[in-house]
Amino acid sequence: MNLFRNFKSVTKTCYGRGSFSKLGEILQPQRMANKGFMVFVVDDYFSDKEDFKKRLPVLDGDELHFISSLKEPSTDQVDALRDDILARRGLPAGIIGIGGGTLLDIAKATSLMFTNPGSSVQYQGLNLIKQPGIWHCGVPTISGTGAEVSMTAVLTGPVKKLGLKCDWTVLDQIILDPDLIATVPQDQWFYTGMDTYIHSVEAITGTKKNTFAEAYSEKALDLCREVYLRRERTDPKSDELLMVASYMGGLSLTYSEVGVCHALSYGLGKVLEIHHCLANCMAFDKLEDVYGEHVQEFRQMVRHNQVHIPQDQAKDWGEDTITAMAEVAYNLPHMWDHAFGPDWEQVLDRERIKGWYRRM
Ligand code: NAD
Ligand code: ZN
Repeated sequence: MNLFRNFKSVTKTCYGRGSFSKLGEILQPQRMANKGFMVFVVDDYFSDKEDFKKRLPVLDGDELHFISSLKEPSTDQVDALRDDILARRGLPAGIIGIGGGTLLDIAKATSLMFTNPGSSVQYQGLNLIKQPGIWHCGVPTISGTGAEVSMTAVLTGPVKKLGLKCDWTVLDQIILDPDLIATVPQDQWFYTGMDTYIHSVEAITGTKKNTFAEAYSEKALDLCREVYLRRERTDPKSDELLMVASYMGGLSLTYSEVGVCHALSYGLGKVLEIHHCLANCMAFDKLEDVYGEHVQEFRQMVRHNQVHIPQDQAKDWGEDTITAMAEVAYNLPHMWDHAFGPDWEQVLDRERIKGWYRRM
C-alpha cells in the first residue's frame, strides 16, 4: 500500500493586491530561457474588458486566446488548442492561464500536451504523462476550486471525466491577486467558494485525514466563515480571505482526499453536465446524514448570502438518469474508501447513492 505520498508543490507564488502587474516581469526570464513566445489563455469574460486587456503583458509574437468557460474543459478542446499552436507556431516558451478552474485546468493540461504525443484521453489518470510539459503559470480570477495548487487538470473525455494527474501538472508559477476576483457574480462567487469549504470538510472527515490536512482545512474553514458569515462582500479584505482559503482548501485535499459530496457531484457533472461547484452545493445540501453540522453551517451561509441552491430537481430525472449518476459515483472507490473506510461496501450500495440523488 502507498502509505506515504510525496507531493510536488507550486514552484513560485506571488501574492497580494495588485500583484497581477508583476506578470510581465515574471515572464521575462522564461522568455529568455526558453527562447520563444508565450501563450495566454484567458476567460472570455475579459474579452471586452479593455482596462484589463491593457494590463496583459502580451508581446509581439505571443498568442492570446479568449476561451469560454461555459463548458468544462474537454480532451478534444485541449488537443485542438495544442495541435493548432504547434502546427502554426511550434513549441511555445510557456503558457499562462487566467480565469477560474476551467482556464487553469486548460493551461495545465495544454502545457503537458505540448510535449506528450497523441490525445489527452490516453493520459487521463494517475502518472500516465511521460514527459514534463512546458512552463505554465496560473492567475486565478475566481477562488475556491484550489486548481491553482492541485496536482490535477480535470478534463471531460469521451468516456471519463478525469484529471491528468502527476507532478508535472502542478503549476510552475501562480499569481494570487485578490483584486481580480471582485467582479465575480454573487451566485458564482458562492458556488465556487463553497468548493473550498467542501474540500476542507471532506478532507478532515474521512479515514485519510491527518494533521497536515487538518491544519490547512481548519484554517480554510475559518476563512470561509469570515467571508460567508461575517464580512460584507464589498469589503476588499473578504476577497483576500477567500483567495487564501481556496489555496489552503486545495492543499488540504492534496494531503487527504475528497468524499461523498464529490462522488455525487461527479455523477451530476458527467450525466447532466452540471458545473462542478454548483453540483457540489446541490449534493452537500442533502448530506446531513454524513456531514452533520457542517451541512447546517452551509445552509446558514446560503441564507446569509441569499443565494439559490436548486431544489426539487430529482422529480424531473427519470430512473435511468438516477441510475446512471449512481453508477458514476459508485465507481469512485478511492472517495468511498476515504469517506467510510476500506469496508465501505458494507455501508454503501447503489440504492443508498440513489437515495441521495432523489433528495436533490
Ligand atoms: P469557471 O472557471 O468555470 O468560471 C465560472 C464563471 O465565472 C464563468 O462564467 C467565468 O466567466 C466567470 N468568471 C471568472 N472570473 C471572473 C471574474 N473575475 N469576474 C466575473 N466573472 C468571472 O469557475 P470555477 O468554478 O473556478 O471552475 C470550475 C472548473 O474547475 C471545473 O471545470 C472543474 O472541473 C474544475 N476544477 C478543477 C480542480 C483541480 O484541482 N484542477 C478542482 C476543482 C474544480
Ligand atoms: Zn471540488
